[in-house]
Amino acid sequence: MAEHTQANRLQALPPYLFAEMDRMKQEQVKKGVDIISLGIGDPDLPTPAHIVEALARAAADPANHQYPSYEGMPAFRAAAADWYRARFGVTLDPATEVLSLIGSKEGIGHFPLAFVNPGDVVLIPDPAYPVYQAGTVFAGGVPHPMPLTRARDFLPDLDAIPGDVLKQARVLWLNYPNNPTGAVAPREFLARAVEFARRHRLILAHDAPYSEMAYDGYRPESVLSVTGAKEVAVEFHSLSKTYNMTGWRVGFAVGNAAILAGLGRIKTNLDSGIFQAVQVAGIAALTGPQQVVADNCRVYQARRDVLVGALREMGFDVQVPRATFYLWVPVPKGFTAKSFSIEVLAKAGVVLTPGSGFGAAGEGYVRAALTVGVDRIREAVERLRKLGIRGN
Ligand SMILES: *Cc1c(COP(=O)(O)O)cnc(C)c1O
Repeated sequence: MAEHTQANRLQALPPYLFAEMDRMKQEQVKKGVDIISLGIGDPDLPTPAHIVEALARAAADPANHQYPSYEGMPAFRAAAADWYRARFGVTLDPATEVLSLIGSKEGIGHFPLAFVNPGDVVLIPDPAYPVYQAGTVFAGGVPHPMPLTRARDFLPDLDAIPGDVLKQARVLWLNYPNNPTGAVAPREFLARAVEFARRHRLILAHDAPYSEMAYDGYRPESVLSVTGAKEVAVEFHSLSKTYNMTGWRVGFAVGNAAILAGLGRIKTNLDSGIFQAVQVAGIAALTGPQQVVADNCRVYQARRDVLVGALREMGFDVQVPRATFYLWVPVPKGFTAKSFSIEVLAKAGVVLTPGSGFGAAGEGYVRAALTVGVDRIREAVERLRKLGIRGN
């Protein structure tokens, strides 16, 4: 196969630690181990029935069987704009300030192709969702990591970015509520980021798929609700986590019309939009009863409280996330993120995601996803306890 060497852009990707963990998990499964996976950021609850029914009806209609329009159905974009106004008080023109995406991952991955030239810098949080980096590398861009540390509440220190890096920078990625740390951004930080992007002529790209997954009455904000944000910012949103629709592939980007037009041009040349029946189902999700979202949050909050409580009893210094379904857990002394993940997988059959897989600054942590029921969480904790594992 030497004559089919993969392109440099693939070789430039960081090693995929998660693939290695997955292989080890499969080995355990083969041995018959009852695996409890706290490793997957994918809701275990089903898509609400009214959304499934909307899809079934729309799928039966031949009008939906042909190529959809590139920018997304006007009715879907209008539903997204209405949802945004109701939720965040932000007014958007559905024709130019909303772009449909085949899941937000698709838009995030393609985004740098529209705005990043080879050698341009993209500012990326570390640890982070790996797609910001992959999309940057595919466009020939140079990722510059912005460490997220507990000492700074997992908010990047924008003033620490060197001047020469900033001069080459085109895009600033942020993601709050944050995967993998579970951190949230106060409004003042979002305002500072908008000001920073304006001053340094950056595109501020905010990835916000967890905006609706929050607890204790906390309501995450849209970066677009900051005055002047629409001049420099776009925000990526997804129906995946909010409505348990990860498999459906539907999301949208909102914000600056010229920036969205750039992404739209890339997409026009690469894809042919979202199956219209899925868009109709998306409209049902965005305009239908929102009680399903509150019900989801109640389920995750109960799981969060069980896992946080048990881990703290075991001596883990774990913070209570106000949003997302992730706990960011410091590993016990003597372990790295990877060695701890391997230990609990091999000896307890519990999958935790090593923080170092999300970037160098994720070392020293594992991510636990609240995507199994309370009974399984209790069982996982019990297995760790039996192993004699203690935090710190
Ligand atoms: C889940 C997730 C996404 C992508 O969701 P889609 O299913 O592609 O819409 C994007 N960003 C982060 C941080 C995520 O965790």
